[in-house]
Amino acid sequence: MVAGRYRVTLLIGGPGAGKGTQAKYLSETLRIPHIASGDLLRDHRRRGTPLGRAAQTYMDRGDLVPDGLVVDLMMNRLAAPDATRGALLDGFPRTVAQAEALDTALARHDGGVHAALYLDVPAEVLVERLCGRWFCGGCQQTYNERIEPLPSDMRCSACGTRLGQRPDDRCDVIEHRVEVYFHETAPVLSHYSGRRLLHRLNGNRTPDDVRDALLDALRALAAPRELAPALPSMSHRDVALSPSRGGLG
Ligand code: AMP
Repeated sequence: MVAGRYRVTLLIGGPGAGKGTQAKYLSETLRIPHIASGDLLRDHRRRGTPLGRAAQTYMDRGDLVPDGLVVDLMMNRLAAPDATRGALLDGFPRTVAQAEALDTALARHDGGVHAALYLDVPAEVLVERLCGRWFCGGCQQTYNERIEPLPSDMRCSACGTRLGQRPDDRCDVIEHRVEVYFHETAPVLSHYSGRRLLHRLNGNRTPDDVRDALLDALRALAAPRELAPALPSMSHRDVALSPSRGGLG
């Protein structure tokens, strides 16, 4: 067993808290894969797998998919070779049962949660943000008509794909998703704060300010000898991830 394998960083925040935007940046900066449970579930739905079909009703209602299904999905993904030296998890764990399953699986492989970074955004702001959210199915770029006007031809300005809205981003489902999120996730925050791993950041700021706060938090976590001279463009060494070998399981 290699010490320091599977050092996982969690990005926690309500739907619309900006996790996707920040996770993309952080995973590139840290050079670890960004694993979003919502994206994996949507991929299963697109492919029409049994898991995708089982998850569909829950997702469309804005409810959580049962723990067993999501835990298996995430453990399988973490077993892929690219996640051996660390991963950035987004949207998982969302319940204490999921957090405990993750802790157990990581501990079995001499790994663990390195930090739980919580983007704190008030419920009413999340609802406001999500109601105006559109996305590009081609390159996954997101747009928000409440922040700036959508392209007049409703096509992605980056790749030209027609913009769409997720079924669960409809305003009638959003309030429920946000309610479910706070109800289920508050105990997850306690789970990690009790282990002194929780870093609560104000997510109700510009994306650049949130990104800087995330980098500051990660910098504070990194041992001095691991800090790259070129900060703020941090390298993956900042979080002391060890070389890849094998998979989870
Ligand atoms: P997200 O893209 O993270 O907002 O997730 C979209 C939907 O996928 C959620 O509303 C849930 O139905 C489902 N989902 C994503 N992650 C989880 C999870 N960790 N546990 C249960 N359901 C999840």
